Amino acid sequence: MIDKKRITINQITTNNLSLQQAVAAYAKAGLRGITPWRDKIEQAGLATSKAIIADAGLTVTGFCIAGLFTQKGVEGRQVQIDEARRAIDMAAALGSPSIVTVVGGLLPGSRSLADARGFAFDALAETLAHARACGVTLAIEALHPMYAPDWSVVATLRDANDWCDRLGEGTGLAVDSYHVWWDPTAAAEIARAGRAGRLSALHVSDWLPDTRSLLLDRGIPGEGVIDNRGIVQTMKEAGFDGWTEVEIFSERLWAEPADDVLRRIIHGCSATL
Ligand code: ZN
Repeated sequence: MIDKKRITINQITTNNLSLQQAVAAYAKAGLRGITPWRDKIEQAGLATSKAIIADAGLTVTGFCIAGLFTQKGVEGRQVQIDEARRAIDMAAALGSPSIVTVVGGLLPGSRSLADARGFAFDALAETLAHARACGVTLAIEALHPMYAPDWSVVATLRDANDWCDRLGEGTGLAVDSYHVWWDPTAAAEIARAGRAGRLSALHVSDWLPDTRSLLLDRGIPGEGVIDNRGIVQTMKEAGFDGWTEVEIFSERLWAEPADDVLRRIIHGCSATL
């Protein structure tokens, strides 16, 4: 049983709402946290966003996203690093302790995972100094291996832990149940991250066994096959005492009334976490 005051909502879950609408809906549902997305903050304006969130009494629990360093190829390296720095500035301005960091997939036109990993790692290392200066942790999120072509060549928590070991202070892990539930080494890697004091964020949703889309058809906790309770428990045992963040990319849910979706999320989390 989870206290709903410890549940935060990743704004992608209500992607059809503006920042103002999302904040109002979360507060109305009795929730206390939000992890905003950059596009929504830019639409509302940074200062206005900060005021809207504060007025509703919500805590900024994270920020999305920094990274995708490989996306524009070798020529676009500096552009992506500059974009990441701007995102970090926004996270800091909003008072977020961390920023979700997705490193990027293969370089355009390349089949070399080694090249992509090396390139993304170096760009991340270059970005880190700015994150440290801003006091915002780069929370590296390992994505399911089917996202390796375009989103993240960091596919396991072991990879993410190894990168954090090499990068040092100012880096952490965003553990997302949707991406790591299948991994037999996940519990050991969560424990390893806990010992290193780098468990920055916990994202939950569910994997629908008949999923129609790997990107936009996630389920509410309880609708699918993920042992979210086990993952939450493993995180707690490893020393994580932060928010449980519900992050659901779902075209199906985006088409439904947000108040109803939030009610079902709270019910699903209460029943299964
Ligand atoms: Zn996530």
